[in-house]
Amino acid sequence: MSNNKIGWNDKSLKEMLDESESLFKDTGRYFGIEKLSLKEEDPFRYERAYASLRGALVSARETALHVAASPIVKEIGELCFGLYTPEGDSLVVSTGILVHIHTMSEAMKFMIKNNYEEDPTINHGDIFLNNDPECGNVHTTDVQTIIPIFWEGELIGWAGGVTHQIDIGGISPGHTLVSCVQRFDDGVYYTCLKIGSNDKIWNDHMQTAKRSVRTPMYWELDEKCRLSGDLMIRDAVLDFIEREGVDYYKKFVREAIEEGRQIMQLRVKERLIPGRYRAASFMDLPFKDEAWQPIAKVNRISNQPLEIIVREDGSIYLSFDGASKWGHNVANCMKGAMEGGQWVLLTQILIYRDKVNDGAYLAVETNYPPGTWCNPGDPYLSYQAPWGNLIPAYTGMMKCISYGLFSRGFREEVVPGYSFTGDAIQGGGIYSAGPLKGERWSLSTFEISGQGLGASAVRDGLNHGYAMWNPEADLGDVETWDLFQGGVVYLARRIKPNTPGHGKFRGGANYAGVAFIANSKQIDFFGAREGMVFHGCGGMHGGYPQATGYRLYAKNTNLKDIFQQQKPYPISDDDPSDGDFEKLIEGEITRKHNALIYPIMLDNYDLIYFPMGGGPGYGDPLERDPESVNQDLNDGYYTEDIVSNVYGVVAQFDDEKEEWNIDQEATKKRRDDILNERKQKSVPFEEFWNRERKKITDDGLSEQVKTMYFESLNLSENWAKEFREFWDFPDDFLKEVD
Ligand code: MN
Repeated sequence: MSNNKIGWNDKSLKEMLDESESLFKDTGRYFGIEKLSLKEEDPFRYERAYASLRGALVSARETALHVAASPIVKEIGELCFGLYTPEGDSLVVSTGILVHIHTMSEAMKFMIKNNYEEDPTINHGDIFLNNDPECGNVHTTDVQTIIPIFWEGELIGWAGGVTHQIDIGGISPGHTLVSCVQRFDDGVYYTCLKIGSNDKIWNDHMQTAKRSVRTPMYWELDEKCRLSGDLMIRDAVLDFIEREGVDYYKKFVREAIEEGRQIMQLRVKERLIPGRYRAASFMDLPFKDEAWQPIAKVNRISNQPLEIIVREDGSIYLSFDGASKWGHNVANCMKGAMEGGQWVLLTQILIYRDKVNDGAYLAVETNYPPGTWCNPGDPYLSYQAPWGNLIPAYTGMMKCISYGLFSRGFREEVVPGYSFTGDAIQGGGIYSAGPLKGERWSLSTFEISGQGLGASAVRDGLNHGYAMWNPEADLGDVETWDLFQGGVVYLARRIKPNTPGHGKFRGGANYAGVAFIANSKQIDFFGAREGMVFHGCGGMHGGYPQATGYRLYAKNTNLKDIFQQQKPYPISDDDPSDGDFEKLIEGEITRKHNALIYPIMLDNYDLIYFPMGGGPGYGDPLERDPESVNQDLNDGYYTEDIVSNVYGVVAQFDDEKEEWNIDQEATKKRRDDILNERKQKSVPFEEFWNRERKKITDDGLSEQVKTMYFESLNLSENWAKEFREFWDFPDDFLKEVD
């Protein structure tokens, strides 16, 4: 190593990365590998090698989160680990929030491209920290610890771990903020910073870092958790090389990624039909009345059109051509966020079995159009909650792929979407009484990871059990959230009726929580979810989208008296038009028809109510088995009026047995009536087209819808051309004039 280059065969990392990229560009194969020779020569050794590394990563994650981690990480596993090649391509992953595997890859490539090898230098025992969305991260709250792995002076790979923090500093307490409008509101930024050497985190870094967040103890625990996992992975890799030899390792890592790419292509060929698939999805960003900052006071709807082209060779092209412009809000996405979202869904719906690595990333060509919410090109905007756009947007990918799966006959694999893991309750405060008086607490409840999943073409969707970013979703125990959200105490967590999207197979159902403020004064409180538009691209083949979100909070209540007099308090809002909150408490009750709450101040005995989302449905609800509908009534998933109006099922409640029973005769008649009603109300397509077109020409669209179309028409020539052709408008219709 006379020239101090740390790559293989006296090369620099930059030279290795250049070689990798040009070989891929020229051949379409990872490192131009023609033949999986290790696999062919000795498949057992090859598979054992992969399994042993995979096992090491899974066990590193399980151990690290129990060694040291914040409750959010420990309870529902908000962390993951990956092993990477010297060029920063992921080879093998742990379980957990896999959305962050490819993001760390981008961070490593950033270090290589920015010549970290010479300055600040990369040595055995060094520790790097990154949470900058411009270098591959999703948002500042996801913090990455990356270490190099050396063998006899050569960099043999990288280990990386990510945890999602309870707090990252920023404009308000919380973990996914809603009130940022620029980078400087997003919390502390670490741009691939060296923070340690000789396997030890530097004291000056830890002193600074702990002062940069509102939860220093959890920060320190999580830093130790990520580093300990990384070190366990490094040990496992060095053991592997002792056992199998360094030459085998070097060849193996490249073959396994090329195999990952090939598996993805084979799976696409097997499961999808070549062609062009499209889906439409929208998200409301109603900041006009809520935002404090003048520049942010605007109501917007994001257009999130998604197109997937499945090619005959099994490769995929994915494009958000036609997307709306970026905004002065938290929901802008950098490349890392987009690629993370894309990768984590592909690993769940197409390549969920074997060799899950960056091969899947390499098999997909993407288009995130510049100037849109998915590629703003301005690092000074806020990127604190890119989830606000990417979660609804990627339902489109699930739907497109579902059309392909259905066409090939994989009906049980169909999933038309999922609910939004929007942050139900967030914020923080300081205890004003009790043994922890004066201590700061943070409200970062992660029960949001239990959302409703969409129905498949053969069964109902999963109830309260899905998060798109973590294939191992778990809503956690209330007691754990109570541990660190001190001043916000649960009163109830119950099934919320009418959340699932209707269909022959209904979407997953969900629940709602009631909490009140205790032993704290003047707490910051906020939340976010869709509310004015349906989340994602709705149901499939006649299925409905799930219910939209809303929020309720009550201030200056008489809850203290209610407790003292042991009177009933609200534990649900089953029928919002005849609400228990209004009936049981006195106070100022606010019902919000959207679910965005910019930070407000709450005090002791104030109440909050936060329903989670169901999943979209599949098929015509009139085809749903009446017995299943009856079960839904008995489970509290639907109410009688909805069941009668949507499913055409008539049921009576047996007061003695306390259960619902179907009236078969009345049900048959009701279903016939609904079918007749549909026939009477239907119009020919031309009539519908004319009516909708008139809304555009006669100024029948709301300001935010007009702005949305205007942005899409002016950001994409292709999208504009198709829009104008479909509606029969002239070429300059709604064209920006300088
Ligand atoms: Mn995160």
